[in-house]
Amino acid sequence: MNDRDTRHQQAMQKLKTRVDEKVAEATEQRGLLMVFTGNGKGKTTAAWGTVTRALGYGYRVGVVQFIKGLWECGERERLAEDEHLEVAIMATGFTWDTQDRDADTRACQEVWAEAERMLTDPDVYLVVLDEITYMLKFGYLDIATVKAALANRPAEQTVIVTGRNAHRELVAMADTVTEMTEVRHAFNSGLQARRGIDY
Ligand code: ATP
Ligand code: MG
Repeated sequence: MNDRDTRHQQAMQKLKTRVDEKVAEATEQRGLLMVFTGNGKGKTTAAWGTVTRALGYGYRVGVVQFIKGLWECGERERLAEDEHLEVAIMATGFTWDTQDRDADTRACQEVWAEAERMLTDPDVYLVVLDEITYMLKFGYLDIATVKAALANRPAEQTVIVTGRNAHRELVAMADTVTEMTEVRHAFNSGLQARRGIDY
């Protein structure tokens, strides 16, 4: 081995020891609360990626979409074929389109009831609360209600919360928080959202 190879091998050995130590320290097993937030693209995509992962092992998954997009959603269409997946969608359009607080609040409460049912069902391994951060921001849902449902959920259940501007109390109670940072987004260069890529 030349010097460079030896240095590399030593560095890798050191890294391996450190990783092994960390792995040995991670002894707790329970469901997680994860928050995917920030202005960059990828929050909902990452949530669906995790849904796919869980379904791959045959776990039951519930997805609640708090903002009914005007767009379709390719992953939902594809994964809906899986009998282990249940999707609940808020029965109103984008709030910027409807501009009707009462109707939005009612629709939000209705779909939240579905979320609450999932959050009490120990057979549901993963629950995604997609874009729920806006419901808290607009005041359609209150943070105390959401926090209580999350805190009282079954111990083995993982929950993913997505949306910009996550409430600081949600961030505080989460086990994993990822902030997607926008470095650049094609939309700002006049590029249209692309079927099968953006939705
Ligand atoms: P995605 O669904 O692609 O993972 P996201 O969940 O992180 O995106 P949202 O804020 O929910 O982002 O936006 C939903 C839609 O807006 C998607 O079609 C996405 O491609 C697009 N989008 C996401 N981030 C941006 C951005 N920074 N600027 C413009 N459009 C965006
Ligand atoms: Mg999203």
